[in-house]
Amino acid sequence: MKRVSILGATGSIGQNTIDLIRRDRTGFEVVALTGGRNVDLLAKSAIELGAKHAAIAEDSLYQDLKDALAGSGIGVSAGRSAILQAAAMPSDWVMSSIVGAAGLEPGLTAMSNGADLALANKESMVAAGRLMKATAAENNVQILPIDSEHSAIFQALMGQSRSSVERIIITASGGAFKNWSKAELATVTPEQAMVHPNWSMGSRITIDSASMFNKGLEVIETKEFFEIDATQIEVVIHPQSIVHALVGFHDGNLLAHVGPPDMRHAIGFALYYPERKPLPLNRLDLTKIGQLDFAKPDQIRFPALKLAYDVLELGGVAGAVYNASKEVALDAFMARQIGFLNMAEVVERTLHRLFARACELNKDQNLDNILHADHMGRKIGREEIQALSA
Ligand code: NDP
Ligand code: MG
Repeated sequence: MKRVSILGATGSIGQNTIDLIRRDRTGFEVVALTGGRNVDLLAKSAIELGAKHAAIAEDSLYQDLKDALAGSGIGVSAGRSAILQAAAMPSDWVMSSIVGAAGLEPGLTAMSNGADLALANKESMVAAGRLMKATAAENNVQILPIDSEHSAIFQALMGQSRSSVERIIITASGGAFKNWSKAELATVTPEQAMVHPNWSMGSRITIDSASMFNKGLEVIETKEFFEIDATQIEVVIHPQSIVHALVGFHDGNLLAHVGPPDMRHAIGFALYYPERKPLPLNRLDLTKIGQLDFAKPDQIRFPALKLAYDVLELGGVAGAVYNASKEVALDAFMARQIGFLNMAEVVERTLHRLFARACELNKDQNLDNILHADHMGRKIGREEIQALSA
């Protein structure tokens, strides 16, 4: 039996993972489940799966979780350190599906304690790709991508020589506002941005998809994961979200990964890797889709993508700054403090202030430097938010 833990069990990816595990109860022993604030769902999931331990990130919810699990025999803990302890519990496979940079240290902890890491938390790769890969190598564990594009690339590369790769193309649905003018984009509300045309996901990544920050993060994630040059990574708008990514080889051949927009395909692939098990999920009927469209992304209306390529040029800890300033800008947009288009302005100004002249940040990717860059990205980002909302 595979021992599994899920960090971020109460979220969209966490619950999709649980959905697959509940269909195969003899295949898995569930060690730890963690949540942020949703005590009820965490307790319900822990009881259903017979988890050994449940941890909630919010300190003040300890008693609520303890009450909810009273008599179950399931261990209970709360607080940031409890999440790290849960990540360290002996597991063979850990799902990293906390949202945001908060997922970085738990993912590193899981790998340092010998678990393969199923990585949904793209922010870890964006902020600390080299550190993540070095940690995996030191501990002789694997990082298995969950992001649909990266799972697609990983699968297309299986059995191929990395040196024959010429380019990688990732697709983007274009989000809810792909045809909106700049003037219209300026009026977008959080409620409008929280609806995705194809995928059902957490609210933060849904807004990131609408602003194209999600695709920016994924371009950086692609570079870090597959160690290819920024010039070899292309983004194509594909409104149907059926082709997730393509890998092009030196001989001109392209391998595409095709599937319905359901994250359980990527999660199931990683859950059983290196085997392929039959999954009880809907099969794609191409005749029902009929048509697949592809177009060039518009970097003027959606500058998040261009900023991601700037980050790749800057290197070092620039990914941590991009992500951190995007996170505070997203908070401010959700709180109606700044507008939809202001998010990219905040990130651009933050990057400019921290990297325009001699970079004051230490570029070496160790955890201290990454956490410091994350801190500075938030601090300068908040200053820029203040300036924009004044
Ligand atoms: P959700 O918002 O649905 O879930 C986030 C999870 O993280 C919840 O369990 C939440 O707890 C927990 N959490 C939030 N803040 C903290 C914190 N500070 N400490 C500990 N736990 C915390 O997000 P998604 O499931 O949509 O996304 C998770 C990750 O996967 C993200 O990195 C996203 O970019 C990535 N991803 C998601 C995809 C999707 O289809 N959803 C696709 C590809 C990648 P609670 O709810 O209890 O507060
Ligand atoms: Mg994706």
